[in-house]
Amino acid sequence: MRDVVIIGSGCAGLTSAIYAARANLSPLVIRGHEAGGQLSLTTLVENFPGFPKGVQGPELIELMQKQATEFGAEFMEGNVTSVDLSKRPFTLHVDEQDLQTRTLIIASGASAKFLGLEAERKLLGHGVSTCATCDGYFFRGKPVAVVGGGDTAAEDAIFLTRYASEVALVHRRDQLRASKIMQDRIFRNGKIRPVWNSVVTDILDASKGEVTGVQLRDVVSGKETLMPTHGVFIGIGHSPNTALFRGVLDMDDNGYLKTHDGPKTNVPGVFAAGDVQDHVYRQAITAAGSGCMAAIDAERFLEAEE
Ligand code: NAP
Repeated sequence: MRDVVIIGSGCAGLTSAIYAARANLSPLVIRGHEAGGQLSLTTLVENFPGFPKGVQGPELIELMQKQATEFGAEFMEGNVTSVDLSKRPFTLHVDEQDLQTRTLIIASGASAKFLGLEAERKLLGHGVSTCATCDGYFFRGKPVAVVGGGDTAAEDAIFLTRYASEVALVHRRDQLRASKIMQDRIFRNGKIRPVWNSVVTDILDASKGEVTGVQLRDVVSGKETLMPTHGVFIGIGHSPNTALFRGVLDMDDNGYLKTHDGPKTNVPGVFAAGDVQDHVYRQAITAAGSGCMAAIDAERFLEAEE
């Protein structure tokens, strides 16, 4: 029986682990299928306080994990496949194992969204990617396309210019959603070519098992064109990993967990932190802050019971 189990090993989960471990609660962190969360898929993080020259996302995650381990947090590989939050202690089914815990912190984050094209799934890992930092290297000297207009797409496009001969930034409007500083970098970068008012209607060529181009539709004129490219990076945002909690925990229409009084969910003893409950700020530092709050509230909850 555990005092605290944390689902998720991104910035929120690891901060919860540091705080819960320092409260002598020996938290168990279940890493999940995207261990390290979104920071581990990014490059330079320039807005996390304390790193004036920036810090690499994966390095920041490693440091947080080290810090949590130093204080006694334990880590477990695996995915939670079902939960029973109807009675306490709570039961979690993790792969083939059942775990019981007095409190639960959900920090399962959010995962990359897809366009929903059949070819996209078929070619994932064969020219289609949701992680520029993981796969950019494979496109040395070749043209690639990035889809999206937010900070993720902007960051991916800039990163990919290290390798690709040209980066077409395909966006469905004629204005980026990305922050001002990222927009400036995009427009200054001679290797990035914005493709405005355009949506990807197909990715070719699933029959060959490789990307040879994308079919684009101009949303203003309705005109369809074929743009040759070797890689497609999908950077259109994320959806929360909350399928496990459907019907059990309160969620908004987009599936984000609803919290009240900080990190509390509608089930006493279950707390939520990070992107799984935040569709507004979604920053590493806000995720870390909410992870801290969840751990403090879990500790107080356990104390009040004793
Ligand atoms: P986002 O801000 O929601 O942007 C998603 C982009 O994809 C939007 O431009 C959207 O178009 C487009 N899009 C969404 N669905 C689409 C579809 N089906 N087809 C075509 N285009 C689609 O998501 P994000 O870029 O992942 O950023 C999420 C949050 O993380 C933001 O708060 C961001 O600031 C933060 N973030 C920060 C950094 C950084 O500071 N370095 C890096 C990454 C992310 P519309 O604009 O038309 O809606």
